[in-house]
Amino acid sequence: MKIANEIREYQNIINGNLLSSSGGHLDSIDPSTGKVWATIPCGTKEDAELAVETANEAFVDWSTLVPTDRATYLRKVGDYIVQHGEELAALETQDNGWVFRETQYGLIPSLASFWYDAAGATAIASKGETVQLGPTCTGYTLREPFGVVVGIIPWNAPLFTFTVKAAYALAAGNTVIIKPSELASVASLRYGELINEILPPGVLNVVSGLGNEVGETLVRHPKVKKVSLTGSGGTAKAIANSTAENPKPMILELGGKSPNIVFEDADLDKAAYGVSLNGIFSGNAGQFCVGGSRILIQRSIFDKMITKMKNLLNEQIQLGHTMNPTSTMGPIANAAQYEKVCAYIAIGKEEGGEIIFGGRHGGGTLLPEHPELVDGYWVEPTLIQVDNNSLRICQEEIFGPVATVIPFDTEEEAIAIANDTTYGLGAGIWTSNLNRTQRLIRQIESGNVWINTYRRVGPELPFGGVKESGFGTDSILEYTREKTCYIESE
Ligand code: NAD
Repeated sequence: MKIANEIREYQNIINGNLLSSSGGHLDSIDPSTGKVWATIPCGTKEDAELAVETANEAFVDWSTLVPTDRATYLRKVGDYIVQHGEELAALETQDNGWVFRETQYGLIPSLASFWYDAAGATAIASKGETVQLGPTCTGYTLREPFGVVVGIIPWNAPLFTFTVKAAYALAAGNTVIIKPSELASVASLRYGELINEILPPGVLNVVSGLGNEVGETLVRHPKVKKVSLTGSGGTAKAIANSTAENPKPMILELGGKSPNIVFEDADLDKAAYGVSLNGIFSGNAGQFCVGGSRILIQRSIFDKMITKMKNLLNEQIQLGHTMNPTSTMGPIANAAQYEKVCAYIAIGKEEGGEIIFGGRHGGGTLLPEHPELVDGYWVEPTLIQVDNNSLRICQEEIFGPVATVIPFDTEEEAIAIANDTTYGLGAGIWTSNLNRTQRLIRQIESGNVWINTYRRVGPELPFGGVKESGFGTDSILEYTREKTCYIESE
């Protein structure tokens, strides 16, 4: 796949039309080079309002389709995006730096699987319950869509978060507006354009622009009946304030500080791979919400595990051009996040953490032999050993290729450290002791627990958080509401 050199212009998709905005445009930066590669619309309040009116009108026909007809549309979307998989994967890669070998072979097939799963679930979204209440009265529930649903998505995995919101909201009969992050909107705008070649106009709209302009207008709008945010806790609070006068149900998928706990009875080779390469140091440089950013290792195996992890990182992490099939880890997705990650490495040192792997950053330092990449936002995979979970680098979400490594002695100590966080998104436990597994699954405070594996996610099971990691999941029934009916026949 070749990357085009000219700067491409992308447009909003409203009512099936490609529209530029009176607000002008924003530059999109390729994080591997630090250079502008595309422009996206800087949407306005008027663009957002037009999208809401459009989606509201389209709701009338879309919501009354027979479920199997909606399913036919969604299956076609799944097929169509697979046909355009290489193009979409390349756009996602250039948008946020996630290496092409993962966006092409991992991300795109998984997107299709969500569209197919949603297609198979359209009937479930219409099923209610019936109760006979004595000889003359029948009670039953109807499941109905909400109406216009807004999906606000982040920069770290735009196509994935777009898909899990849109596929299930549409399957249930809602119409949808996606607001991508102003820091990575290109792949979403093109994705929306392709999906609009299949769906009727107005059913799915994409409006790019700033969060406090387009995002805020959308979530405040009285005709928007449900909001699903994947983003930070700060944005969740801003949306709660914006909707305070006109409350509406929300799904919140927020940040994390997930623990990955390795016990002495684990398969250490499997665990070393699971907590390092799979757990956090993957193709999008640790910028995923369930990154296992706190690695807890039992003291008796601490040195052995660290050696295994370092060997894997040395052998298998290759920074380099994100389209190159040999590159296994990309850059930080944008300049602000790069500054943040670098600052946390410095804070870790000031707090007394010991950098036991990596710690360097900057294209000039890490990739001097690639002049085109020296202005990119590159950070080495970094392990910081600490002995105190109350440090800022153990409590605050860094969202990059930086993990703290914390030794522990007993199971009780491990679970106390694991739960000592305001977040509760994911947790990994590496052990061969089944009784311990059963105990810890109950004790751990997180929405997802992985035993002897990590980060497995798919359409078959829900994905959500507890504590400050949010509530609700992007799944079919969450995009329906129940209406209760009583029919008295005499
Ligand atoms: P962010 O909260 O800064 O932005 C997310 C989206 O919200 C963007 O589209 C932004 O424009 C919009 N927004 C900002 N202010 C708004 C407002 N006032 N009203 C409406 N919309 C507004 O998040 P980010 O930096 O793009 O993404 C990183 C965060 O996302 C991390 O905290 C990460 O953990 C989280 N995340 C969570 C999950 C999950 O499933 N739990 C998945 C991926 C990312």
